[in-house]
Amino acid sequence: MTDIASNIISLKKEIPANVKLVAVSKTKTTDDILKAYNTGHRIFGENRVKELTEKGEFLPTDIEWHFVGHLQSNKVKHIAPLITMIQSVDTFRLLRIINKEASQVNKILDCLLQFHIAREETKFGFSMDEVKEMMGSEEFRLLDNIRLCGVMGMATFTDNHEQVREEFRCLYGYFNELKNKYFHDQSSFSEISMGMSGDYRIAIEERSTMIRIGSIIFGERM
Ligand SMILES: *Cc1c(COP(=O)(O)O)cnc(C)c1O
Repeated sequence: MTDIASNIISLKKEIPANVKLVAVSKTKTTDDILKAYNTGHRIFGENRVKELTEKGEFLPTDIEWHFVGHLQSNKVKHIAPLITMIQSVDTFRLLRIINKEASQVNKILDCLLQFHIAREETKFGFSMDEVKEMMGSEEFRLLDNIRLCGVMGMATFTDNHEQVREEFRCLYGYFNELKNKYFHDQSSFSEISMGMSGDYRIAIEERSTMIRIGSIIFGERM
């Protein structure tokens, strides 16, 4: 068995059955992706449009692709035919464009609202006020080609476990508030995407439903 295959198998044994695993394959080759695919894994994440469309062309069509990076609105059309979920929706404007491009290809795209939870300045994401304003608008209700499935966030890159835990708790709090206010009758609003190679154990303790793992499966990136 390859390292990649055994890495993904042991990771799946470790995590609870209700936590989904997104194998983040950015910078890795299609051969590497196939090694994971051949263990039965189907959910993969990429963070660049060009890389995703190039790889997607050569890989099995039953892969469920998740987009996890900052997405420029003019590039949504390139990934709309291929993608299952966009985890990194960080503005209302982007959500409207995703809706438009999804309708062009006759599909309903699953989306997560990315929240800014880290102390670092550079991470993209909504604030709670922005999301509430969006939810209250007439325009939001007209979006028929997107399905909001939950929230996503990245914790600060730090060894301080308590800080990371606080940030994950904050994201869980956002999820809960949105669920109660706007989505209580929608079972599809159920995902809390948090946890990467360095912090997924804490994320799972803080009720993550979806972890996004690159390095542990595919090895360090250059
Ligand atoms: C790269 C990336 C990951 C995976 O990172 P690892 O630390 O390699 O597990 C997860 N989420 C996002 C948004 C990423 O860009």
